[in-house]
Amino acid sequence: MIQVRVLGAAGGVTGSAYLVETSQTKVLVDLGMFQGRDARSTNGNGERVDVNASLGAIDPRALAAVVLTHAHLDHTGRLPMLTRAGYNGPIFATPASGDLTEAVLRDSAGIQEQDTQRENRKRERAGLDPLEPIYTKQDAEAVYQLIKDVPYAKEAQVAPGVKIRYYEAGHILGSASIAMSVSDAGVTKKIVFSGDIGPRDAPILRDPEPPSEADLVFLESTYGDKEHPGTSASVERLIRIVRDTIFNKQRVIIPAFAIGRTQLLLYHLICAHEAGELADVPVYLDSPAAKRATEVYMKHTNLHDVEATRLARCQRLVDGLKSLRLIETANESRALNESWDPCVIIAGSGMCEGGRIVHHLRHNLWRRGTAVVLVGYMAEGTLGRKLADGAEQVYIFNDPIAVRADIHKLDGFSAHAGRSELLAWPEKMMRGRPRLVLTHGEDGPRAALAAGLKDRYGVTAELPMRGDVIHLAP
Ligand SMILES: [Zn+2]
Repeated sequence: MIQVRVLGAAGGVTGSAYLVETSQTKVLVDLGMFQGRDARSTNGNGERVDVNASLGAIDPRALAAVVLTHAHLDHTGRLPMLTRAGYNGPIFATPASGDLTEAVLRDSAGIQEQDTQRENRKRERAGLDPLEPIYTKQDAEAVYQLIKDVPYAKEAQVAPGVKIRYYEAGHILGSASIAMSVSDAGVTKKIVFSGDIGPRDAPILRDPEPPSEADLVFLESTYGDKEHPGTSASVERLIRIVRDTIFNKQRVIIPAFAIGRTQLLLYHLICAHEAGELADVPVYLDSPAAKRATEVYMKHTNLHDVEATRLARCQRLVDGLKSLRLIETANESRALNESWDPCVIIAGSGMCEGGRIVHHLRHNLWRRGTAVVLVGYMAEGTLGRKLADGAEQVYIFNDPIAVRADIHKLDGFSAHAGRSELLAWPEKMMRGRPRLVLTHGEDGPRAALAAGLKDRYGVTAELPMRGDVIHLAP
């Protein structure tokens, strides 16, 4: 028997998780956090339940191994729940992914603990019993101990009958597509997981390199209906917004994923500064996770793209902007909101669903002249999506906040491949007529990509929902 259970990012973009099952073993590919709309569900009594609080169909004791595509929270965020439930098998990742996963989970565990403390203060006042966080820093620590490095292009046996090889995905540092060979009862099948695929020619990162053979391909579809707009226009707009807003003595607030987007933004700010297009404006990187991730980017320079000038600039990411301030503690973060000095604040989480960015938005959204720059994908139901959709009022910690700030949407910093790049990605594999399954996309983009793939290769892609099982061999 060979089958794959799709446990997340099906009909949405968060909570990525696949369970590969044979008669001898079970291997999990990614275990991401659900965010926004994907995170909310109701039980039989109509009560709201947190989807992230349960491992669902995954039995940690029956699991032989976990394999990661990349470190983003929506691909790794529930790993500490596995260790909390007693899992102590290996977690395979590229070396850079392993380092970044540590930064992501440390941050996420801190947020889980803080959010639960805040909730419990309210519950105490209401006479209710306190809640436990879904995981703690200790559970996250246990994850780091299990991570095993697998470099790109090296075959590794991860479980009985299961081998993997990592291919560059070009999405964030260490990101990979997985070619998995699965053998059971004399049958061998090749399963490819695209992971999140980056755009070609992005600064810092190498271009994606797809595998060449497969019987079954899981392909992400985030931007299945849109072309990647290219970065140059967005970079120009970003620099103009920063210049004008600072000139008017106001603040620029940028929600950004700690990994990938933050380094890209810093890179462009440094380039503009070096080119004399931007004065030495104060830039606050208010995210310990982003700070650590930037250090990991510096450590793995062997993974950077080869263009020498880019590489040279990249190595100066941290000291390139004299005015770059890295904020560690929550007190420093709060102090930032006690003065109104003009500055740029970059903080997470990327979709404004938690983290320090929420506090900065609460203090600044209602101020005319503030510029909020949205640079990433905002999943449905997230605070970021509401701002992107032009909400005039939002709720933050249950308080209504008027949106008087200027909201700017810049598409060019996306870490995801555009439609044409997604259509071209499986080209070599399509010669073997594999089954094609689209995941990691909302319904519209996913259906649009399926139509494009049908035109180009004559195949009908499958569009599973959460919980669906793809059978490969009986
Ligand atoms: Zn990602």
